[in-house]
Amino acid sequence: MLKNDPHFLMYYNSILETIGDTPLIRLNTLADDLEGTILVKVEYFNPGQSVKDRIGLKMIEDAEEKGLIEPGGTIIEGTSGNTGMGLALAAAIKGYDCIFTTTDKQSKSKIDILRAMGAEVRVCPTNVEPDDPRSYYSVAKRLSEEIPNSYYPNQYDNPSNTQAHYETTGPEIWDQTGGAITHYVAGMGTGGTISGVSRYLKEQNEKTQTIGVDSDGSVYKKYFETGEFDKEEIHPYLTEGIGEDIIPGNMDFDLVDKVMQVSDKDAFLMTRALAEKEGLFVGGSCGAAVYGALEYARDNDFGKDDLMVIILPDSGARYVSKIFNDEWMSEHGFLDAE
Ligand code: PMP
Repeated sequence: MLKNDPHFLMYYNSILETIGDTPLIRLNTLADDLEGTILVKVEYFNPGQSVKDRIGLKMIEDAEEKGLIEPGGTIIEGTSGNTGMGLALAAAIKGYDCIFTTTDKQSKSKIDILRAMGAEVRVCPTNVEPDDPRSYYSVAKRLSEEIPNSYYPNQYDNPSNTQAHYETTGPEIWDQTGGAITHYVAGMGTGGTISGVSRYLKEQNEKTQTIGVDSDGSVYKKYFETGEFDKEEIHPYLTEGIGEDIIPGNMDFDLVDKVMQVSDKDAFLMTRALAEKEGLFVGGSCGAAVYGALEYARDNDFGKDDLMVIILPDSGARYVSKIFNDEWMSEHGFLDAE
């Protein structure tokens, strides 16, 4: 709560009070062929510069309430970086240690940022099965069993993840649009953002359409459409934060109406366009979400009374050596369309 005391000092009691209440911003140039309104919810306005600050705080506070973590304890999580930042922020204020496991696919800057926040980071191989003892899921689980007074939030299956979005992101979107939202779009990683917000919005208006964005190479789209978990479909991809090779407990497909799958190239070129044309310096999963959303809108008669909100999970600052680096983009064959 922003304090406004008699001496006209305006301040927050800690950085944690600045989490949430992120702005909605209209897309102009990129959506100028569409009659309806397209708004993006820009989550890099959170203090850890991503949507994951919301769940970092909520998972720790719920664990404290349930007595799952004691003062001076250690938080251990498998994270691509953003959840680690959210947990590290809350841990710094509340006095916990953090150990994070991550994969060698993640941007080095994300790992450096976690270390800057005082966390220990263990880097694990990307292309091993989730149940392989070397995977970042398995290493986090093993450490949490070995280290006394440790807590493993497990963002994939922890209902506090979805609940954070049900309690904060969903109501913010409903209030900011005065209840006029018709379409909600979010990338699908753990599923917390899409499931929590969708549940809240559909409770307010059951007609709200929820569109999930997946990455080419992930199992989600096929699983959503056929109910089949097809390991043959899986191939490596570079978009960070969305798509999975497992179906997490937080991914509730009953709350999703349509899944759009987006390639790395389309995601990254759209990420650059968001910076250049809209002044939105955001991450690769944001480009994927906007690409999938605009494709959906163009294919589905998105009309003048329609109002779409797209979640943009994080900042471009974490991808300067990749998506915003011409050499890296060319090496991967992503630049020839420009
Ligand atoms: N984009 C980025 C950059 C992320 O870090 C995440 C979290 N994995 C997501 C999208 C997807 O959010 P969620 O886990 O809530 O599905």
